[in-house]
Amino acid sequence: MKLITRHTRAPRAGAFIRCPYCDAISKVHHFAWLALACQSCGESVAKDCWAVCDRSELDPTLILQLGAPVTLRDQDDWCTWLPDGDRVISMYGRTESRRNRVEGRIQITPEVALRQVQTHLEYGWKLDVRGKGAV
Ligand SMILES: [Zn+2]
Repeated sequence: MKLITRHTRAPRAGAFIRCPYCDAISKVHHFAWLALACQSCGESVAKDCWAVCDRSELDPTLILQLGAPVTLRDQDDWCTWLPDGDRVISMYGRTESRRNRVEGRIQITPEVALRQVQTHLEYGWKLDVRGKGAV
């Protein structure tokens, strides 16, 4: 478990922190605060008591529910879900010679996006933990 220090920075897609009281995960975009009320249990938690979570520790459906992008991979095939307001942009393609070629891009509802992520996980696709969550 890693606690927040003054050196902790949030990536552009947001950082994930775990509440020490209820273990719920929240997403933050910066650490310019001293304490934050947990969205789940309502407890006011001092900054140095929250634990920083790597996205690889989280369920990809939870990452998407928290409004952050998710990329799943099956070797060279990838699929990315990018939250965009009240919609999610779903993109898929292949990585060829280290380039990500986009083969399709559609807008879907968050409910459909969550179901798609779930289905891909059931078929053995894995969270792409490199980078910022989106290809
Ligand atoms: Zn809590």
